Amino acid sequence: MPFIKEEFSEGEPQTSLPPADADLRISEVFESVQGEGVNIGTPSIFLRLALCNLRCSWCDTKYTWDWEQYKFEDEVRVISQKDLLRLMRERRSRNVVITGGEPLLQQRQLVAVLRNLAPEYTFEVETAGTIVPSDDMVELIKTWNVSPKLANSGNPLQARHRTLPLTRFAQLENAFFKFVIQAENDIHEVLDLVNEFHIPAARVLLMPEATDPAVLDKKSDWLAQLCIQHQFRLGYRLHVALWGNKRGV
Ligand code: SF4
Repeated sequence: MPFIKEEFSEGEPQTSLPPADADLRISEVFESVQGEGVNIGTPSIFLRLALCNLRCSWCDTKYTWDWEQYKFEDEVRVISQKDLLRLMRERRSRNVVITGGEPLLQQRQLVAVLRNLAPEYTFEVETAGTIVPSDDMVELIKTWNVSPKLANSGNPLQARHRTLPLTRFAQLENAFFKFVIQAENDIHEVLDLVNEFHIPAARVLLMPEATDPAVLDKKSDWLAQLCIQHQFRLGYRLHVALWGNKRGV
């Protein structure tokens, strides 16, 4: 049954994370190329975990958490760690993109799974930066793609702006901050966060909010100018350019 709504509301979820030996709630496992972030283009296994503690209005993976629009029973697979390891070892890629939903909601089980795959595999995590990563996770992860949500996501400030996790990620040199930009005005909020958490510009990416290639191109155009102005990186969405909003690619 869906446990996200009851146990992981917009408050402080760390205290109620499932134990290390629990089964995982996953949405899908597939192989593709990394479409975003600093490792763009890398052939990767995508491990998409179900459940999220945020509710972004423009979320393109609502099937991981929106149980008013989707049926939990249809979308979520409860899988043992052993079966998940077997699923992943069937694929050729050796870079694993751990995404969601919010994968850190299941970080205790993830540590156990990833330890079984290391050191042959490399791992990157996509997170909204609302949950403090454990030291064990930090040790295992090669790249953090942290995407703090702005007001344009529709989440209340107290849910999306979490001081402890953002402070921790800002300290990690392998954590890159990827901001989803809807309109040019969003830059003010980005600058406030960058200043508040002392994030070096070289670790900031501005990424257009887009689920179709035409919008992606249009927004990338003016976003590039903002990146030059503030010395941030321009983020892209390779999977949108190649496949639009298609799922599982
Ligand atoms: S944090 Fe990510 S998965 Fe969760 S609602 Fe926002 S965009 Fe969707």
